Amino acid sequence: MADAKICGRFAPSPSGRMHLGNIFCALLAWLSARAQNGSMLLRIEDLDTSRCTEEKARLLMDDLLWLGLDWDSGAFPGKAPDEFYQSRRSGIYKEFFEKLAAQNLIYPCFCSRAELHAASAPHTSDGQFIYPGTCRNLTEDESRSKMQSHKHSWRIKVPDETITFNDRHYGRQSLNLAREWGDFIVRRSDGIYAYQLAVVIDDALMGVTEVIRGRDLLSSSAPQLYLYRLLGFKPPQFGHLPLLTAPDGRRLAKRDMDLDMGALRSRYTPEEVIGRLAFLAGLIDKEEPVKAAELLPSFDWQKIPKENITVTN
Ligand code: GLU
Repeated sequence: MADAKICGRFAPSPSGRMHLGNIFCALLAWLSARAQNGSMLLRIEDLDTSRCTEEKARLLMDDLLWLGLDWDSGAFPGKAPDEFYQSRRSGIYKEFFEKLAAQNLIYPCFCSRAELHAASAPHTSDGQFIYPGTCRNLTEDESRSKMQSHKHSWRIKVPDETITFNDRHYGRQSLNLAREWGDFIVRRSDGIYAYQLAVVIDDALMGVTEVIRGRDLLSSSAPQLYLYRLLGFKPPQFGHLPLLTAPDGRRLAKRDMDLDMGALRSRYTPEEVIGRLAFLAGLIDKEEPVKAAELLPSFDWQKIPKENITVTN
């Protein structure tokens, strides 16, 4: 029996035109939710206001609709930016940030990027810094006096605890918060709330039950699950996807302009683009034009590869 309560989401950052890798994730998030009779939500993750613009958000929505990937709630084209744009939600993030502060779970951090590099903190495989905890043990007086004159971010204390969860695609995962993350940032020194905090609050308050995204964010699920627990929210089902890579093994990026939506739309039909993505995802045996909705009856997670997928162009 299909579960009508499934809610999937698109959560793109409008910092540039979407490319093949972004729409690969969008298609699979859509298929997964729709194949379970679920709904879809679109949230615009424009926390980084220096790189994200309304125009890019508008293009992104236009591109999704052109591909035949629709959604039921969230941001819509032709509507002014609203509560489905993260840049409009700092009041909400603040409320939860203060809840964490009231429980004495966060502390100001005065370390600059240069200082962190110099401390040569170990890195995890995806290049993430593991914070060595420098500011964790400052006394309240020390922190208060430094805060007058120094820029500071806010970090959350993580326990030496292993978070375990079942990924929809990659199976059982275990990540130790202290060893693989360290105390992570919940508010940046420019006052912007960090992705890890914002994404948890948003997915929880917006009723998202299924989070499908690239495996570059697989390790982020651990700090996010930790925040779900601290804030008293029910976590979603996570499902991560292999990344699309260039022939040299590099992840596809916005700079691969021949694969961005502008270039794709000028050369192909929506059915041709979806056909290519579906073929890369293992959902069809030969590359041919297809509509997203036509993939629904035979959609099956088991067909999707686990290894990253090389795109040749
Ligand atoms: N906004 C993020 C991105 O575009 C995705 C965040 C998420 O799916 O959790 O990379």
